[in-house]
Amino acid sequence: MSVISVENLSFTYAGSAHPAIRQLNFNIDRGEIFGFLGPSGAGKSTTQKVLIGLLRDFKGEVSVFGQDLRNWKADFYERIGVSFEFPNHYLKLTALENLNYFARLYEVETRPPPELLALVGLEEDGHTRVSQFSKGMKVRLTVARSLLNNPDVLFMDEPTAGLDPVNARRIKELIKEEKSSGRTIFLTTHDMNVAEELCDRVAFLVDGEIALVNSPRALKLEYGASRVRVEYQVDGRVEARDYALDGLGDDSDFIQLLKSKEVQTMHTQEASLEEIFIEVTGRGLR
Ligand code: ADP
Ligand code: MG
Repeated sequence: MSVISVENLSFTYAGSAHPAIRQLNFNIDRGEIFGFLGPSGAGKSTTQKVLIGLLRDFKGEVSVFGQDLRNWKADFYERIGVSFEFPNHYLKLTALENLNYFARLYEVETRPPPELLALVGLEEDGHTRVSQFSKGMKVRLTVARSLLNNPDVLFMDEPTAGLDPVNARRIKELIKEEKSSGRTIFLTTHDMNVAEELCDRVAFLVDGEIALVNSPRALKLEYGASRVRVEYQVDGRVEARDYALDGLGDDSDFIQLLKSKEVQTMHTQEASLEEIFIEVTGRGLR
């Protein structure tokens, strides 16, 4: 059953001549990580803001947990978690004070703030005022806050933006763990590595429109070159040869090479998600 279903969704900001998103159609299944991948300005954040009920004057149909979004009241927010692209914390309060404050707004049971801080690597920083946090620390605090109420659905807008590689990895692992504990995750990103590693399915978004929806794996199979590249050593030099995957087991050149040479690496030549994005949409991700 779909947790989120969207039909012909369009939204135009007041005073704007063109819709920011146009005729979007997609469904998100329970337990799925669904990614919105697209360059800056594509309409990712706008879509998230509609789905969480912040932008109300949309056209089309959106239902969440089987109920029309327009009919949801405040109890909607007991069931979802949101991390915004631009962190919005109380800067004069400490990290723990922020989490404790937001925890009190929920009626449902909440997760202990120290536990959440540890999940995002801020266990040592709970008593520091958020005004002293770096951009990356604020992003991580946003992620921690989004988990307070054990939400059924998590909305994460660019959750790894501005993070160093170690913390980006930590957040990606956290997202995988939250998925395995049964949460459904709507994720927006302009980082194809994030989409490729985390998403069960991605929607390619350009200029407010969805160009396609599919799993990264299916896309790579469809757009991949179906060749394997073998790198091997000859007299201390590295050489490489490509072979067609089709009929590889009967390819006598390939088998001879495996028998006679010192093979160092062997990889199928897959298209990256970014290359596929460019091929499908004619646009880059930056
Ligand atoms: P993304 O998150 O993919 O970078 P956004 O959803 O933020 O894209 O923006 C989509 C389009 O809507 C852009 O053209 C942007 O300039 C416009 N936009 C975003 N927020 C507003 C706003 N508050 N008022 C008017 N236009 C906006
Ligand atoms: Mg955005």
